[in-house]
Amino acid sequence: MQCVVANILPAQQQGLKENQTLKFSDLGFGDDLLQSLDLMGFETPTPIQEEAIPYILEGRDIIACAQTGTGKTAAYLLPVLERINREGTKHTSALIIAPTRELAQQIDQQVEGFAYFTGATSCPVYGGEKSSWDQQKNALTQGADIIIATPGRLMAHLKFEYVKLDKLDYLILDEADRMLDMGFFDDIMSIVSYLPEKRQNLLFSATMPPKIRTLSKKMLHNPAQVSIAISKPAAGILQAAYEVRDELKVPLLCDLMKNHEKLESILIFSSTKKNVKNIVNGLKAGGYPARAISSDLNQEEREEVIRGFKSKRIQILVATDILSRGIDIESISLVINYDVPHDAEDYVHRIGRTARAASTGVALTFVNGVDSRKFKSIESLIEMKVNRVPVPSHLKPDQRFVSSSGRSRGSSSRGGGSRGGSGGGRSRSNSNRSRDGRSGGSSRNKNRTYKKRKSGSGSNKSGSGSKNSGPKS
Ligand code: AMP
Repeated sequence: MQCVVANILPAQQQGLKENQTLKFSDLGFGDDLLQSLDLMGFETPTPIQEEAIPYILEGRDIIACAQTGTGKTAAYLLPVLERINREGTKHTSALIIAPTRELAQQIDQQVEGFAYFTGATSCPVYGGEKSSWDQQKNALTQGADIIIATPGRLMAHLKFEYVKLDKLDYLILDEADRMLDMGFFDDIMSIVSYLPEKRQNLLFSATMPPKIRTLSKKMLHNPAQVSIAISKPAAGILQAAYEVRDELKVPLLCDLMKNHEKLESILIFSSTKKNVKNIVNGLKAGGYPARAISSDLNQEEREEVIRGFKSKRIQILVATDILSRGIDIESISLVINYDVPHDAEDYVHRIGRTARAASTGVALTFVNGVDSRKFKSIESLIEMKVNRVPVPSHLKPDQRFVSSSGRSRGSSSRGGGSRGGSGGGRSRSNSNRSRDGRSGGSSRNKNRTYKKRKSGSGSNKSGSGSKNSGPKS
């Protein structure tokens, strides 16, 4: 594939002074993309974008270490869209492989935003929806510009001859470490065998374990390495931890909800589905309507809950790690780890749901005695000591009534003491506040269909027909 953008160089090579803020226009994007960025309120590139975009525009393979929340999706989407727009390709040009349906959908939504004025088309390809097979087949047959797929469903389509990836220009692996954790190595290698050898490969991963290096050696050619603050939480996240016994966790949660009533979006993580149920029940009993999301829900139910949370109709969401990576929900002000995640990296992903891009947020972690060692290893991973906050004294059982097993023996001053999420224990005069009942609707709930761009009009939403006026040099 020819290298089309000769005038796009890293900032230093463009003569920008060190302290001069780089703008998207400095990266050499055309007007169509700049208009979309303007519409989306993107003013300056994030560090990963600054570093990765020039390489991608130059045609280099890259291996990028960047967590979600750093703007990594736009770091690969923008240059790929720019080149598709410039070259006026008429085939499936980019294949993005992502570990989960949710991430695939989210990437697709970002394409929709960025391509608003370029008119590039995309189609997410993932399982779980009976109705979507034909639509996906259509996109794979006719050559949507960008296909965003989970490995399993793409493999299922690849068994049929209609899939046209023979002219593919870009292969992007998003959250590659997660995909390997999920056992997709063989599927990825098998998908690669369907692709033309000459293509540009972009590998994005939150971490760089040896198996990612192995994958990169197999797939990438002389890659440029881009690395942004490995495994460090974003600077805008205020972190704190409560050392708290299990039986006080739900009362503590309810207490925190009371103090954070004004916060619009609160995300609570737990490692187990059973705990998720208990937490939701405990919050409800305390007067705080909450919804659960875990792999127990089917795809439609999951989407409904995510839409509700994104539109702020659902204010408190309790999740397993299904949501800890990749999912981009703006302005989550508070993340609570009801337990310490098993994998230290997951801590970074969980709390990365708050303080997205440049905003700020709070992340609180409940650490019981058993989890304290795990939490220490997290602190050593993130190279910082997380502030310990004392559990409010009104929640603690009166020590005079606590037996040696640690259980309360029936004091009226227990302030809850419910175990395993049987309720907040504190009676609330305002327990009927309807947090869940606000009308939402701001989220884009488009059942996106595959739209074929071309011929200068069609899905060129600007209506200006500015798309595809011919390849540029
Ligand atoms: P990601 O790391 O790709 O999940 O992106 C995190 C969030 O940052 C998303 O909501 C993006 O829309 C947003 N974002 C990405 N790049 C920029 C930028 N240059 N300026 C403002 N927001 C951005």
